[in-house]
Amino acid sequence: MDEHAIRSIETAFDTFAEELENVRTLARKIRDGIERIDPFLQDANQHICPGCRNVCCISKHGVYSREDRVYLRALDVTPPAAVAASHETDPCPYLGADGCSIERWRRPSGCTWYFCDPLLDYIEARPGYREFDEALREVAELWLAMVEEFERISTRGPKRGQATPFSAS
Ligand code: SF4
Ligand code: SF4
Repeated sequence: MDEHAIRSIETAFDTFAEELENVRTLARKIRDGIERIDPFLQDANQHICPGCRNVCCISKHGVYSREDRVYLRALDVTPPAAVAASHETDPCPYLGADGCSIERWRRPSGCTWYFCDPLLDYIEARPGYREFDEALREVAELWLAMVEEFERISTRGPKRGQATPFSAS
């Protein structure tokens, strides 16, 4: 994402602070939902990922999208500083010796929603899979609602005397 697009999100939160309160509420529910499913997924990662020969944690995947930045901004959280990799297939800069170094709730959403086949096979056979699946679905619905709400409000016309967020330079 370029600097202009990042600044436009900031401007939207400044301009529509009150109107975006529900976006903040939805973001908190998403964070809580991801934290609830984290132990289930962490168990799966610990069992499956150490034997992986095609690790998905490469630099091109450890990237925050516009939606991710809206979510984190709604939580008043700044994404980790981007670390340039020389090639997009290099190991993700956030990958540590014990796996991802970022708490799951603030990882790029592409990481949250990605399940390779071996991981899926493992979790589908675990007790508690049904509850996990329902919780994940709920988080996904909250995410869509948060994004829609943000787009609906942030693209409104300017308040009297204010610039439109997406026209800010
Ligand atoms: S999630 Fe799947 S592809 Fe990624 S490191 Fe774990 S086993 Fe490998
Ligand atoms: S899960 Fe963490 S280490 Fe893996 S790609 Fe995502 S941010 Fe990078």
